[in-house]
Amino acid sequence: MDKVKKMLLVHIPTGRCNFKCPYCFITLNKAWEGDRDELNRTEDEIRKAFDMKRFGGPCYVNLCASGETLIYPQVVGFLKAILENGHYVELVTNGSLTQRFQEISKFPKELLERLSFKFSLQYTELLRLGLMDTFFENVNLMRSSGASINVELTPVDEEEQYIDEIKKICKEKVGAWCHITIARDDRDEKIPVLSEHTLDEYYNIWSTFDSNMIDFKKSVFQQYRNEFCYAGAWSLYINLFTGDMRQCYQKPVCGNIYDYNRPIPEKPVGKCHLSHCYNAHMLMTLGLLPDADTPTYTQIRNRVCEDGSEWLQPKVKSFFNSKLSESNELYSEEEKKKYIKEAKSFIRRRKIKKIIKRPITKISGIINKEK
Ligand code: SF4
Repeated sequence: MDKVKKMLLVHIPTGRCNFKCPYCFITLNKAWEGDRDELNRTEDEIRKAFDMKRFGGPCYVNLCASGETLIYPQVVGFLKAILENGHYVELVTNGSLTQRFQEISKFPKELLERLSFKFSLQYTELLRLGLMDTFFENVNLMRSSGASINVELTPVDEEEQYIDEIKKICKEKVGAWCHITIARDDRDEKIPVLSEHTLDEYYNIWSTFDSNMIDFKKSVFQQYRNEFCYAGAWSLYINLFTGDMRQCYQKPVCGNIYDYNRPIPEKPVGKCHLSHCYNAHMLMTLGLLPDADTPTYTQIRNRVCEDGSEWLQPKVKSFFNSKLSESNELYSEEEKKKYIKEAKSFIRRRKIKKIIKRPITKISGIINKEK
């Protein structure tokens, strides 16, 4: 059975979306118009860029856009090219673009069994647009085609009135309640919960869905990580348009995936400066911080339905159960110290830059006002 070698967080930097969900970063920042770039890569480029030989084994590839991942028709071909390289892909989608799912359902079986979908259940938006049936038909089309599925709700306060309805429709249509994440306010550096409630109140309301996901996310929410982090060595954050690679979110560019002649960078973050591990349900559970005790990613994503069937198909279930430390070497204490020292000096430089930048921005603001 395959074990995860690397984690590739592949970002499609477009805000284009057919939904306008109230909690979405794009909505909060009114950024739907923000990106007019076209996806100018070819399937051959993608195939070459994601060649398994460059990464040393099968990777977990998370394919996600700022807006809707499947909005560009070309993404279907790119998805196929990545799967043909032997990787496991989890594609994040609002589940509304039926034509794309019909195309994907025609992929060969050996590709579909390594494909998983995170279907974001945008409940109020689906109600507003009259697309609830379409959403669940698409989920079930992917499931019957042989792909793995998981349905996830990002709860906002306005949805509390629908809790019973949401549980009922998920049981009826996909055999189990959806998983629950925590809506976060990315506009604030401390990344608080996006709610009028305190985090504890929010958790008490939404933990009734019996979801491992919200349980784990709550346990690590707004906690600085002290364990050594292998992001950058065992994972990369990649911009699919430009090819820029970063060690993790908010890190500087460390290479380009379309630079085929250069080896893939393998330098770890060591010490994370963020107020909590972004997307810890995936980054931590697949093992970027091996000293942290976490459930497996399968425990976060899977559901066993009333009829005994499961959301994750056998290959994906086994792959999501593996940890990065099973197929990568751990560093010695000395090596770790070296990387932590570098990370601390990076954080210091960043803080100094911020302190210098503030008065400069203020002064230029005053000058602009006076113009
Ligand atoms: S702790 Fe999480 S967010 Fe921070 S660098 Fe590591 S993986 Fe990235």
